[in-house]
Amino acid sequence: MFKFIEHWATVDIFNFEKVSPKLKIYPHILFAGKSNVGKSSLINALCRKKIAFTSKTPGRTRFLYFYMIDKKWLLVDSPGFGYTHNPEDRKRFKKLMDLYFNSNFNIKQIFLLVDVRFIDDPLNVEAYSWFKSLKLPIHLITTKSDKLRKDKLRFTEELIKDIFPYTEYTFTSTKKSMGISELIKKIKNTVY
Ligand code: GDP
Repeated sequence: MFKFIEHWATVDIFNFEKVSPKLKIYPHILFAGKSNVGKSSLINALCRKKIAFTSKTPGRTRFLYFYMIDKKWLLVDSPGFGYTHNPEDRKRFKKLMDLYFNSNFNIKQIFLLVDVRFIDDPLNVEAYSWFKSLKLPIHLITTKSDKLRKDKLRFTEELIKDIFPYTEYTFTSTKKSMGISELIKKIKNTVY
């Protein structure tokens, strides 16, 4: 469980340089995934607090949200990718993420969230390759794992090993509270 959770910053391409110094002090854990993957549900379950908002919230694709946890690390909630086909918004998303990745932040972990039913979605594979090329430590999280039967989950596990080789993974479901305490442990081992 995490004790102290406070909003630390909301960042877009316009205030990035100004806010950046205060983001350098603490290690980051970044949550990324396609829009509607269940990212805000998972963040809220981990924090036991409603801090993150669904990618359906207007404007949600433009910002990086930072939360200070236990005065030790920053939880980074990134815009869901693939939400918009508007070229301007896509450019802006890419620009924001490039700024973020080129700022020498201490990114301890990227949690890449993928819907358990659509592991091999091209956008997931693209994001994985992108993060890999940046040499960032990726941990795969399947969301909505309650939506598959046990035997299908085993098949999915094989698929994960195929598509995302040598990558740690955790099956989660916020509906069934599955994988939540494992993730908290994993985060604590990484940053505490
Ligand atoms: P975000 O857009 O990635 O932040 O996704 P949300 O957290 O808003 O979730 C998108 C939809 O998926 C919502 O309708 C949630 O209720 C649903 N959802 C999220 N997590 C789970 C889960 O673990 N199981 C199931 N069955 N549905 C989920």
